[in-house]
Amino acid sequence: MRHHHMKTTRGSIAIVLGTRPEIIKCAPIIDECRRRALPFFVVHTGQHYTAELDAVFFRDLHLDLPKYNLGIGSLPAGKMIGAMISGLSDVFARENPRVVLVEGDTNSVLAGAVAGHASGSLVGHVEAGLRSFDRAMPEEINRIMTDSVSDMLFAPTKEARVNLIHEGIHRKKIIVVGNSIADVVRRAKGIVDTHSPILVQYGLVRRRYAVLTLHRPSNVDDPLRLMSLMRAVGHVSSPEMKRIIFPMHPRTHACLKRSGISVPPAVTCIDPLGYLDFLALASNARIIYTDSGGIQEEACVLRVPCVTLRDSTERPETIAVGANILARPATVSRATRHMLARRRVWKNPFGDGHTAERILDVVSTYL
Ligand code: UDP
Repeated sequence: MRHHHMKTTRGSIAIVLGTRPEIIKCAPIIDECRRRALPFFVVHTGQHYTAELDAVFFRDLHLDLPKYNLGIGSLPAGKMIGAMISGLSDVFARENPRVVLVEGDTNSVLAGAVAGHASGSLVGHVEAGLRSFDRAMPEEINRIMTDSVSDMLFAPTKEARVNLIHEGIHRKKIIVVGNSIADVVRRAKGIVDTHSPILVQYGLVRRRYAVLTLHRPSNVDDPLRLMSLMRAVGHVSSPEMKRIIFPMHPRTHACLKRSGISVPPAVTCIDPLGYLDFLALASNARIIYTDSGGIQEEACVLRVPCVTLRDSTERPETIAVGANILARPATVSRATRHMLARRRVWKNPFGDGHTAERILDVVSTYL
């Protein structure tokens, strides 16, 4: 375990994060802690540790390096969660935080919630109550377990709140606050529009290309599945979509290399992007194909139509407002036509971009 600085004061907030989406969605909360001069510290579990999935986001979102980095990545899920609970318990014993905040549905989130609870801290779960109702997804089990040990459930939407109430969680613990992705997009959008060179770099014309991302094990670990998805997206023909830019997650890249499957000519594979470049790419796309959770929300907030390459989503609000549709390889083409015909005028269900303030209004009452 690495750590710098001195022990934080009692009554502090511990913010636990470990992966790309957590860094992005915790950024506005960290900023707001700084702005209010609240006593807080950040613990990184190390679940994501490469420059392209980790360091670049601290730079792009102007975050200090975490006070602690446990360096726990690349382990089977059970061992990873166990090691994280143990490492986080050591940090919490030393720091004695009053509140532990976690965001999302990863192994780091579950470990943070369990360790926080076991250490006698109050646990706040940001993005509580999301449910895909698919228990084969490890994230779904992480969501359910995290919500059940949490004391403050920061639900992004009314729908998420209803899911929690159906599981018997006391309504007093649930606060609907919006999703902090709206905060991130609100703050980054201006910078992105003027500063990212990404469209020029790839010779792209605004609204004349698509973006593709894939990283869920169910889509990328099986080469046949990955190939049929890439083919389906690569063969959608439309004058608005001559090119498909595919920033490839390392997991996906590894599968592609291992299996030697070929990439359709319309698809341009590139390295994963930093946040500002990705937001610039996504916000100017005509359509987004993804199996990511966070990107379904971003597309919805940015008013870019989304086709989600999965059988279920824990973000049904995006479908309800008309921003998103589920598809499998055989239905990609139909789903695309459907989404291209939609007017980009739907209501954003994820709030006004002041989610971090609402969360800290609640957390502050316990410090
Ligand atoms: N993202 C990024 N660069 C990329 C691909 C994604 O910055 O090349 C961002 C994207 O904007 C979104 C987040 O990563 O906010 C989503 O993370 P990911 O898809 O890894 O996780 P999930 O949301 O599915 O948990």
